[in-house]
Amino acid sequence: MPEPLTPAELRALDREHVWHPYGPMPGRQDPLVVESAAGVRLRLAEPVEGVRELVDGMSSWWSAIHGYNHPALNDAARGQLDRMSHVMFGGLTHEPAVRLATRLVEITPEPLRHVFLADSGSVSVEVAVKMCLQYWRSLGRPAKRRLLTWRGGYHGDTWQPMAVCDPDGGMHRLWSGVLPEQIFADAPPPGFDADPDPAYEAHVRELVARHAHELAAVIVEPVVQGAGGMRFHSPALLRVLREACDEHDVLLVFDEIATGFGRSGTLFAAEHAGVCPDVMCLGKALTGGYLTLAATLCTPRVADGISRGEVPVLAHGPTFMGNPLATAVACASIDLLLSYDWRQEVKRIETGLRDGLAEAAELPGVREVRVLGAIGVVQLDRPLDDAGMAAATRAAVREGVWLRPFRDLLYTMPPYITGDHDLARICTAVRTAAAAAV
Ligand SMILES: *Cc1c(COP(=O)(O)O)cnc(C)c1O
Repeated sequence: MPEPLTPAELRALDREHVWHPYGPMPGRQDPLVVESAAGVRLRLAEPVEGVRELVDGMSSWWSAIHGYNHPALNDAARGQLDRMSHVMFGGLTHEPAVRLATRLVEITPEPLRHVFLADSGSVSVEVAVKMCLQYWRSLGRPAKRRLLTWRGGYHGDTWQPMAVCDPDGGMHRLWSGVLPEQIFADAPPPGFDADPDPAYEAHVRELVARHAHELAAVIVEPVVQGAGGMRFHSPALLRVLREACDEHDVLLVFDEIATGFGRSGTLFAAEHAGVCPDVMCLGKALTGGYLTLAATLCTPRVADGISRGEVPVLAHGPTFMGNPLATAVACASIDLLLSYDWRQEVKRIETGLRDGLAEAAELPGVREVRVLGAIGVVQLDRPLDDAGMAAATRAAVREGVWLRPFRDLLYTMPPYITGDHDLARICTAVRTAAAAAV
């Protein structure tokens, strides 16, 4: 074993060599050094603001739904490690991948029956787009190659996903002339319980109708727009999309990478509306936050269409496709989730977040507080600058909680195993961070 690096050495090398998400090079803000994690706690390599352990309010970006270092997931990983950590998926197959695919087909809406295993959420969206474009090519309609989405979305950081991220909040200005130009409807009217908005529905239907000849698919995040702004909308809008797509022969893609596996209160957000898309993307919580893995599911209609084409194969095949370690842990994570009353736990967290965050609405500089399932959001009047962001993060750390605000948002989506006491601490930290930020 090499000599361990001290936290100070780590930070210095990190700053010099390592990119972080959406970060400058060299880094401007020192990341906290994490030594280990267990349950809902991250253990720092050294005390920060006098605090050594942080309750994780982020589930490592929606993924660690069972917390860290979970014995069942550790066992699955270890067991698989001793058998094989990886083999190629071309010409070979193995039990964890087959089991996972079968399980995903069982638990997702009918008739999603075919599974492409990808290595990250963004890649699963690339694959979804490729499926849709190839479907129409195979049917002799190559002009159907554009996408429609609504504003305020986020679908990942590779090219096709970037092109359907919110054009203002995303990086469209930086990439104009490079990104494919897609079609944007207005952002969905806010509010899970919002009343029907006939004008908005007509707007979406009209856009789908007008562009049907060139539209391969409509792609949206159902019910919860995540990294595009943490907004909720009425499930009824998904039925409007389904109807418009059916009427005008356009495919419908749901990106459930953030919402999948119970986060919004149903196993998949599509269930709020009773709608099945033609293609569905899953990721983030798929492995309980252990390893990178995503999946693109499609219906027999889409698979058959592709298979009838001049090139009758889905031309995609990542090196680490179906990785045995990741798929084994994903199977264990799904088994674990379904082994207890997760609905009850998500409901409990929803209630805790509603109670704990309500007061934040009274704070100066707070525009709105909203909660759905195990997602709590405090939106500020204006975006945080670097100093505001640092102040908010520090304030949460002083409360013993890890939060990662972005833009005008302080938010939390805690692991489902978060106890009431820790949940109350998270809420206090969100309120304190909001007060410190403005
Ligand atoms: C995180 C996310 C992605 C991208 O997934 P990565 O694994 O980060 O590539 C795509 N869509 C949604 C809705 C997401 O939340």
